[in-house]
Amino acid sequence: MSSALDLFRLDGRVALVTGGDKGLGQGIAIALAQAGADVAVVSRSGNATATLESIAAAGRRGVALTADLSSIASIDRIVGETLVQLGRIDILVNNAGIIRRAPAVDYEWNDWRAVIDVNLDAVWALCQAVGRLMIAQGRGKIINIASLLAFQGGIRVPAYAAAKHAVAGVTKALANEWAHLGVNVNAIAPGYMVTDNTQALRDDPERSRQILERIPAGRWGVPGDLAGAAIFLASSASDYVHGHVLVVDGGWLAR
Ligand code: NAD
Repeated sequence: MSSALDLFRLDGRVALVTGGDKGLGQGIAIALAQAGADVAVVSRSGNATATLESIAAAGRRGVALTADLSSIASIDRIVGETLVQLGRIDILVNNAGIIRRAPAVDYEWNDWRAVIDVNLDAVWALCQAVGRLMIAQGRGKIINIASLLAFQGGIRVPAYAAAKHAVAGVTKALANEWAHLGVNVNAIAPGYMVTDNTQALRDDPERSRQILERIPAGRWGVPGDLAGAAIFLASSASDYVHGHVLVVDGGWLAR
């Protein structure tokens, strides 16, 4: 007899996760594999050994793909390589992202462009390329990784805030067009999580203390905290959820 929990199973599905070699993307890639998916792990380094070991330990297939997502030139290649190696794409997680910090008056154009290139342009291009496949197969799940800075302005990170607001906007725009075609487009907005992305904040005792004081859960998040949200949005359990930005922040925004 099937149970409601079977809605969350991902057996036979194939996921493409960008930035899956470390941090939040690694946590998401492993969670999807533990729920039953095979996973193509895209990273700039191409060294996703630790992630692939955990995927194999879950009894699933993982493949590592190398791509510099600061240019959309690699998009068609990584989609094609995933299809060749794993046969299909049912789940896309646009997780790769960078952050550059500087006061707005000094913010360099190169930093603005670099952040927009990876955090927005590559997200859009992958949504479009994989979305076409999903529409053709009548089914698919796209999960874009946004941020609290899809809702707030942040401090000294104007390009990041702009890109993450735009990711939330693109998520909703695509959901409007694709929901009736069987493709779910949603986002996860993580709070303050312990990864390389936030190393500079945690190295600053004053900022670190201020951030921690505002988190009702009383701790920073870790990659495993996104597992439930990622499996939910990747699975049939979320079939009627479209254009949602799911906040996983230990209560930060409720404050
Ligand atoms: P991280 O620095 O640990 O990982 C970033 C990932 O992006 C790496 O896997 C890296 O390979 C990939 N990447 C970066 N530039 C790339 C490029 N040019 N081409 C291909 N891959 C590239 O950081 P993280 O915290 O794990 O960040 C993952 C996502 O989560 C990002 O989109 C980030 O904005 C978002 N996020 C993080 C936090 C947090 O507190 N850590 C909060 C909200 C949102």
